[in-house]
Amino acid sequence: MLRVSNIETFYGPSQALFGVDLTIVAGELVALMGRNGMGKTTTIRSVFGLTPPSAGSIEFEGKDITRAQGFRIAQMGLGLVPEGRRCFTNLSVRENLLATARAGHWDQTKVENLFPRLAERRDQSANTLSGGEQQMLAIGRALMTNPKLLVLDEATEGLAPVIRQEIWRAIRTLKAEGLSILLVDKTLKEVLPLASHCLILEKGQTVWAGEPDALTDDLKDRYLGV
Ligand code: ATP
Repeated sequence: MLRVSNIETFYGPSQALFGVDLTIVAGELVALMGRNGMGKTTTIRSVFGLTPPSAGSIEFEGKDITRAQGFRIAQMGLGLVPEGRRCFTNLSVRENLLATARAGHWDQTKVENLFPRLAERRDQSANTLSGGEQQMLAIGRALMTNPKLLVLDEATEGLAPVIRQEIWRAIRTLKAEGLSILLVDKTLKEVLPLASHCLILEKGQTVWAGEPDALTDDLKDRYLGV
């Protein structure tokens, strides 16, 4: 479904990615891992055309999207739940959801069934939501685009344990429904049982890829500081 091959990405003169490879097969949940500052968010930004790579290639369903514009990438079926949520704070919950709606399986009712709190807060302005509720809204907003591949960047970071559990329950539901998912999250206890494949970035390069069972304590210690 997605094939990222040896990409290099810069912020101005500063190189952040030095050769990232990443493959996602339809229906899989792939975990993108690595310590802080190793290039996970930049990899996602590269896929979505926010910081296009200057070398390497990105293909989605066989089509080259290496330097495609963000709205085209979204139209092709990639949905992003960005780090920091970035809800439209001056819009209501309902308006946030409708702003990105495209015809398909996911609609407002289905999103509200996944996150009943969003139904309770339907007419509230997004800036009055708690951090956890904003995270639910960011996931709901991405689902409203009816993506083929959902990308979640640190969707449980900084949230209260009970809210994290609600987000994990939703991610498990999405996976069980067969949605393809790329997940960046440091909570290995939750990520590893869900992942079909993992890959680790170190200093902007893919240094390890494999199945979760092959991720030894030595690798976790060396690359994840666990
Ligand atoms: P974290 O887990 O902390 O979010 P990450 O693995 O997602 O980290 P990135 O945010 O992709 O890492 O950062 C990769 C490298 O790119 C880091 O060295 C970072 O300082 C640098 N970087 C990130 N954003 C910018 C920017 N806007 N301008 C310049 N350098 C940046």
